[in-house]
Order: sequence, then structure tokens, then C-alpha cells
Amino acid sequence: MSKQETKAAGSTGKAYKFEDHKFDVVVVGAGGAGLRAALGMAEQGFKTACISKVFPTRSHTVAAQGGIAASLKNMTPDSWQWHMYDTVKGSDWLGDVDAMQYLAMEAPKAVYELEHYGVPFSRNEEGKIYQRPFGGHMQNYGEGPPVQRTCAAADRTGHAILHTLYGQSLKHNAEFFIEYFALDLIMDDDGTCTGVVAWNLDDGTIHRFSAKMVVLATGGYGRAYFSATSAHTCTGDGGGMIARAGLPLQDMEFVQFHPTGIYGAGCLITEGARGEGGYLVNSEGERFMERYAPSAKDLASRDVVSRCMTMEIREGRGVGKDKDHIFLHLDHLDPAVLNERLPGISESAKIFAGVDVTKEPIPVLPTVHYNMGGIPTNYWGEVLNPTADEPDRVTPGLMAVGEAGCASVHGANRLGSNSLIDLVVFGRAAAIRAGEVIDRESAIPDINEKSCDKIMERFDRLRHANGGTPTAELRLTMQKIMQEDAAVFRTQETLESGCRRMDEAYKGLTDLKVTDRSMIWNSDLVETLELENLMANAITTVYGAEARKESRGSHAREDYVDGPFAGRDDENWRKHTLSWVSDSGEVTLKYRGVHTDLLKPGIDLAKIAPKARVY
Ligand SMILES: Cc1cc2nc3c(=O)[nH]c(=O)nc-3n(C[C@H](O)[C@H](O)[C@H](O)COP(=O)(O)OP(=O)(O)OC[C@H]3O[C@@H](n4cnc5c(N)ncnc54)[C@H](O)[C@@H]3O)c2cc1C
Repeated sequence: MSKQETKAAGSTGKAYKFEDHKFDVVVVGAGGAGLRAALGMAEQGFKTACISKVFPTRSHTVAAQGGIAASLKNMTPDSWQWHMYDTVKGSDWLGDVDAMQYLAMEAPKAVYELEHYGVPFSRNEEGKIYQRPFGGHMQNYGEGPPVQRTCAAADRTGHAILHTLYGQSLKHNAEFFIEYFALDLIMDDDGTCTGVVAWNLDDGTIHRFSAKMVVLATGGYGRAYFSATSAHTCTGDGGGMIARAGLPLQDMEFVQFHPTGIYGAGCLITEGARGEGGYLVNSEGERFMERYAPSAKDLASRDVVSRCMTMEIREGRGVGKDKDHIFLHLDHLDPAVLNERLPGISESAKIFAGVDVTKEPIPVLPTVHYNMGGIPTNYWGEVLNPTADEPDRVTPGLMAVGEAGCASVHGANRLGSNSLIDLVVFGRAAAIRAGEVIDRESAIPDINEKSCDKIMERFDRLRHANGGTPTAELRLTMQKIMQEDAAVFRTQETLESGCRRMDEAYKGLTDLKVTDRSMIWNSDLVETLELENLMANAITTVYGAEARKESRGSHAREDYVDGPFAGRDDENWRKHTLSWVSDSGEVTLKYRGVHTDLLKPGIDLAKIAPKARVY
């Protein structure tokens, strides 16, 4: 490590002290994806750093309840082909076929690895990993009945995985930089990523990491919305860094609403609750999902259930004083089962809704939960920088995994329990690929001073921002716009209004006021950096949505409902959106074809050919 003093450019000319580090690999993020990648890198003997703005086991993955999908066949018949079919259908035919096949085929291996690393999975009577049913996962190519595919550690699966992976990463000597906030990617003039600059929140020092490979695993951007199940740290920092590096984001218009956020608080009640037999009712006491999805009922996929709930509420059959939510019943289930399989959500319902789940229903509402879009990658996690001639061109030195990335396996809609498996399958794939592409003999790149100066200029500008709008105020404005104009149902009118209002909000970034100028635990500045990142994610979401003239998966437009596929237009729109954001907030959209070829034989392509998506 070397230390040096440099003058940062910028309004104040303040000196920043740098500490420089050299690693083979730097992973930004210590959620499930970042830890699985870091572990895989360290296991191969790469000198690996893992940077996280929160303590690793506080990453949002810790909140994942329901489980992780893999066709282990421990409870019902299953196969990777069925898992792949469900994922393709769930994605509403927008996912990349090679990546989805890779996910389904590698899933069992990745779960057994977790078991051997020490994840304390729940067990069935034979002592095998317990698996529960989850929405959209069916037997026999969607013909049903529901399959039990979701491996669970009670309702604390993410917690169990995260703690295990952290321990394993330490065991393999990954070096952790905890409570370091990554500011931006260090990019060479030829477009190669050569490192990252981070701010140590605890002592105010600035750290420049050079590396042969940087892996972004920074999670989703749920906090661009007013009501979200995600942690306050889910601010799409990786997406912001990508946008500032002049690289595109992909399929940002696809935002998943989870059917069962607790009314008011937004906290999640896992789909596992319906997997264990819970069901939704309207104000007439009707189990309305039977009407909309006669075979899968309450276990139809999330976009479908969220829309049905919204329609019930709109048609006046919501529950409560304002008829603005829905009830989830678990009170018919055996209290012993609730206690064993869903202890955490019983506690959440008590704390956040004041409800005893053994006696009363839980008030719930669709709440923003997951971002299908993100940083475009191939199925190895390598970040793409597509051109018209080379749609799969790779950005050297850069990978993205987990919710921050878009491989794309979830396409227009993710199935429950397919994210945790995405984290470990692609975290692992990134490490395997790094083993192939990193030249162990070559020198670690030198610091690109020009790129670092630019990064510090921005930091310094925000640190001394002295406009008229507090960060929290502008953030709230953005969150309300997104909640109102890029919601469960969308129309041309709401989306155009969203674009206009987001343009205004984006301009507001030039008028921010940061009151704390210190370098140590400056949460005002952290939130401002996060807000800039959120804005890049939010504006590409609403622009991508306005441009996409169809309904597909979570992107449900009321003005596109006709035709055999209920508004989905495969001829014109079975393609990925790419979006670039300029510094002043102008969005440029381009498109890239969906991968429709198999990775290898093993499933009949006709089985996964596009058709209407009904459950
Ligand atoms: C309440 C809830 C329940 C869920 N339940 C399930 C489930 O049962 N099954 C399932 O499959 N999926 C579930 N999901 C989805 C799934 O948990 C997430 O998609 C997944 O955990 C995201 O993991 P990640 O590793 O990509 O990111 P995260 O776990 O969000 O971690 C992001 C990491 O990046 C770091 N980071 C971010 N920005 C910076 C920065 N600027 N500098 C330094 N570090 C940074 C953070 O510190 C953190 O370590 C759930 C999601 C929620 C919100």
C-alpha cells in the first residue's frame, strides 16, 4: 500500500489524502452475489478485496426469507428443464435463453455447494434439504401441479446464506474493506476498467484500488420508489457508476412489485406464506385469485398476482376503512407449522401490522421489490458494452453479478426464489470466468490519474454543494414520481408525465444543499451520492417504460392489452432496452436482440417457444 497526497481539482482545491492498493480482483458489494464471487476468486488464490458500504451481513440479502430455487427433487418430481421452462415463461420471453439454461442447470450444484459450505437448510423427514412451493414454479412444463423447488432455511434463507458465505470468504483470506463507500470506476482511455475509488466512511480517507478485474455486486435500486421492501441501502450505486462511465443499463423498465408488502410499512411477507397454504381475499371474503388464475391461483407469478390485487382494489373490493388493501390469511394453518416454517414473518406481522397471524389476516399491498433490469452481462457476468455490430461486446476488466446485473435470466419478470439462486450461480460463474481470463503473470494496472481526478472532482463538488434543495427533499420528490407514474399499471399518459417530471427532478441535482462538509461519518454526503445514483436508475426506468409500446411481464400497460398475448408484441419488442444517461440527465435508448439459442442441447426449443402466458 502506498500513501500520497494529491490536490483534487474542484471548487475548493481541498487536498485529499489517498491510500493506494493493488489487488487481482476487487468486488464491490458483500451481499450474496458479492460474497459468492469474492469467495470463488479467493479460493483460486487471487488476491481479492471486497468493499462494502455496510457490514457484510447487513446487506439486503440478509432479509431474503422464502428460499432459493433448484431442481433437487427432494419433495416432488422435478428437472432442470422444468425449472428452465418456468423461468422462461416467468420472464415473459424476454430473458436470454443461454443464461436461463445455465441458471437452471447449475442451480443444484450451487445449492449443494452452499450446503457443504455450511448453510443450515431446513430438512424434510428423510433429512434432505426441505423445499417449498413458490409462485410460478410448476411441474411438467407448466402443466402443474406446483413443484416444491424452493430450498429454505425456515424463513431466514438469505440470513443463513450470507453468514455462511462471509465466514467462508474470511477463511479463504478475502480482504474486507467494510464501511467503505465506492464512488466510481477507474476507467482507462480504451474503455478498460482498472479499479475503483472508495471513501472510508469511518476515518475519511480516500482509497484507490487498482485491479485486473472489478466485480460490481451492489444490489438493486428499490429505494427509487416511495414504498419498497428493500433496505435503505438499495440505491443502485453500481448502476450510477456504470452510467457515469458512459456504459449502458439494460431493461430498466422492468420493476417487480411483490404482492404482499405489509400495508403501510412496506415490509415483506414472503411468498413462502402462500407456498405454505396462505391465500388472499377481498372485502367480500372471496379468494379472488381462483377467478384470475384457475390453476396456479395464489401461486401465480408475482406480476400477475400484483395486478389482480390492484384490480380488486380499483373495482372497490379492497379491504380496510379506505378499501385500499387486501387480506392475506394464514390463520387456517396449523400454528405449529407457522412456528416452524414462518417464524420471522409471524414476528414481522405482529410488529408492523399488530396482527397475530394465527388469529387474524395480514393487511397487504403490492410493493416494489426487485429490479429485473441492471448492468448488462453475458452468462459469465462479464459486463457488455454493445454496439450495433457487436451486441455482445465485453468491457474488459469489469463484471457485474446479483441484482445489480442483468444476465438476463429474469427478463420482464422474476420468479420468487430465482434471485438467491442467480446470486450464487452467477457469483460462482464470475469466479470461474475470472480464472480463465485473468493473466496471473501480468502486472496489476497503474492508477489512471486522469480518471481519478474526475472522480474526486465530482466528490468534491457534491461535498460542497450549496444550493437550495436538501437531499432528502429531492429524494422524496423522485420517489413520489416513480410511485405515481411508473407503477403496477402504466399508460402513455402516466409514463410521459413520469419522463417530464423526472427530467425536472434530475435538474434538481444541480441545486442540492449538503450541510455537513466533514469526511467522517457524513451521512448527508453519503445520501447525496446515493441520490445521484438513484436518479440514473430512476430516469432510465421511466424513459425505457415510456418507449416500450407493449405489455410484458411487470411492464403492464393499460393501453396495450389486445391480441393473443394480451398486449405483448414479440414481433417488435422481444428485445432488450439499452439506456445511456449523460451528465445532464439526457437518456439515449437503443435495443439489443434477445439470445434465443440454447447453450447446449438437453431441452427441446419448441418447449420454450413464445406463447401466451397464463397461469
Ligand atoms: C425483503 C426481501 C426478501 C427477499 N426474499 C427473497 C427470497 O426469499 N428468495 C429470493 O430468491 N430472493 C429474495 N429477495 C431478492 C434477493 O434477496 C435480492 O435480489 C438479493 O439479495 C440481492 O443480492 P445482491 O448480492 O445482489 O445485493 P445486496 O444483498 O443488496 O448487497 C449489496 C451490497 O453492495 C454493497 N454496496 C452497494 N453500494 C455500494 C457502494 N457504493 N460502495 C460499497 N458497497 C456498496 C452493500 O454494502 C451490500 O454489501 C428478497 C428481497 C427482499 C428485499
